[in-house]
Amino acid sequence: MGQEALNEHEPERPLVSAERDLIALGIAAAACILLVGTGGSLVARALEALLGEGRQPDVLLVNALLLNLALMIFGWRRYRELTREIAERRRAEERARLLANTDPLTQCLNRRAMLAATEALRQRARARGEALAYCMIDLDNFKQINDVHGHAAGDGVLVMLCQRLRDLLPSEAPLARLGGDEFAFVLPYPPQHPERIDDLVIRLFESMADPFRLPQLTVELTLSVGIAGDHDPIGAETPASDAAALMHRADMALYHAKKEGRNRFFWFDPSMEAELRFRHQLETGIRRGLARGEFVPFYEQQIDVETGALVGFEMLARWQSPQLGLVSPEIFVPIAEEIGLISELSEQLMAKAFAEAREWDESLTLAINISPVQLRDPWFAQRLLKLLVSAGFPPHRLEVEITESCLHENITLVRATLASLRNQGVRISLDDFGTGYSSLEQLRSLPFDRIKIDRNFVRELRQPGPRSPIIEAIITLGRGLDLPITAEGVEDATILESLKSLGRLKAQGYVYGQPEDGEAVRARLSAAGKLAPQAGRPPAGAAGTPGGACEATSQPRSAQS
Ligand code: C2E
Ligand code: CA
Ligand code: CA
Repeated sequence: MGQEALNEHEPERPLVSAERDLIALGIAAAACILLVGTGGSLVARALEALLGEGRQPDVLLVNALLLNLALMIFGWRRYRELTREIAERRRAEERARLLANTDPLTQCLNRRAMLAATEALRQRARARGEALAYCMIDLDNFKQINDVHGHAAGDGVLVMLCQRLRDLLPSEAPLARLGGDEFAFVLPYPPQHPERIDDLVIRLFESMADPFRLPQLTVELTLSVGIAGDHDPIGAETPASDAAALMHRADMALYHAKKEGRNRFFWFDPSMEAELRFRHQLETGIRRGLARGEFVPFYEQQIDVETGALVGFEMLARWQSPQLGLVSPEIFVPIAEEIGLISELSEQLMAKAFAEAREWDESLTLAINISPVQLRDPWFAQRLLKLLVSAGFPPHRLEVEITESCLHENITLVRATLASLRNQGVRISLDDFGTGYSSLEQLRSLPFDRIKIDRNFVRELRQPGPRSPIIEAIITLGRGLDLPITAEGVEDATILESLKSLGRLKAQGYVYGQPEDGEAVRARLSAAGKLAPQAGRPPAGAAGTPGGACEATSQPRSAQS
């Protein structure tokens, strides 16, 4: 598909001139001329001599004639051989060119060839007064198929997707696999009717409703699409819209579609460029901030609901950016994961948190959040234990929080990692429970020590009255599996009251105060007599604490409800 578009940009190949420049053909032609010039009379004379009517022809001339004939035959044969050879080499060259331009798995164009094909089609569309749309497609969560079902299954899905695309597209539309699970196609459309492209993309989304049936399994997939046109929505040509620019804009639109929650499509809009620029600034800022130690641990209190006693803290990362102020982990953690810095970031924070938490009373635990990306590292457990050893922080005071999304990863590796952490005394909590898709089987078979009810469910308790069936179900489940429970996001006294009636729980949330930095926690603990005995150094001005809640048992703040 779209191969013909490529030919227009091919330079003249040496074989073509070789074909024209045939010495052999020249020899044969010269021999023909000689034969016509001299052979005519000589043959007539030879015939007369044979019939006994004339003189024997000159032997020298006869020899020359024979030589002439031999040269003709030689020249012709050589010419035939040469043309055959050239045809052979042409075919080989064509094969090599095809291989260099197509993706071997799907036979679609590859990224490099797509650029040329797009440019060629753009020029043609332009000459016909048409607009051109460049559509970039990315499968959502394709990596999981590869990881869970193996690469053969992944390949099968890609081939099937490619076939679906071909079935939808007109035959002249170039279709490319840009790499991995990323595809693109280009399509001309009437400049006033971009909705024709929308229609096609919608049909593509509809076709995805049909699951991919492979020999051993059936998978359901969604995709995200980014579209860039060389005309604006009112049909005017956008300046500087060559193939490379279209590709880049479609990529930005695709990124936007992914960020907006996947399984959707967007046309490129200039605001996306600004968004992406901001994103690049964030990336640079994160790299710099990491080198400068701008990431710091904040801590959120964890309270025993029944007794009101402070039992530990959850460490929550914060970025103290000189430009942006205090930045939430919800902004920088996903970026750090994407750019491969999450392990370094997390380890830097853990080292600081272990050093600070070592100064707290030894009854207080520390919970840390671990990204699914970190759990892909087979050495994660060793690295964490090494950090604990060098900080002198006892493993039994540490709780590692992982989310359900970790369970979609390489489960054997996750299990081994959790087991070796647990062997050292570290406890494991399942965070944000209820938001993912962990099965009962996973809950039973993985070594969890606690489940944390996601704050979105806890929020339901805000209304007094009948209890939330989800929370009741989670609590019953926890009891059945003998797993203690923490409720997070406890924002007010009403929620807290409802929780108290649900049995023995731990709770955390704004009702006990906002997360605070190490210095504030230290002051809080110092005032409550909950610093480790050897951590004698009283922090300067520790007489009062920011929240004023100095008791060892934390009381909910009525003002915050
Ligand atoms: P999480 O583990 O569910 O953490 C609880 C989040 O809820 C925190 O947001 C906390 O500030 C917020 N929160 C606490 N109490 C309340 C409340 O009463 N109401 C409401 N609405 N929210 C409350 P934060 O600090 O912005 O963290 C967001 C998420 O970022 C965390 O969710 C966690 O998944 C992730 N995160 C934080 N620190 C780290 C880290 O060091 N590493 C990794 N991988 N992820 C982290
Ligand atoms: Ca957490
Ligand atoms: Ca949580």
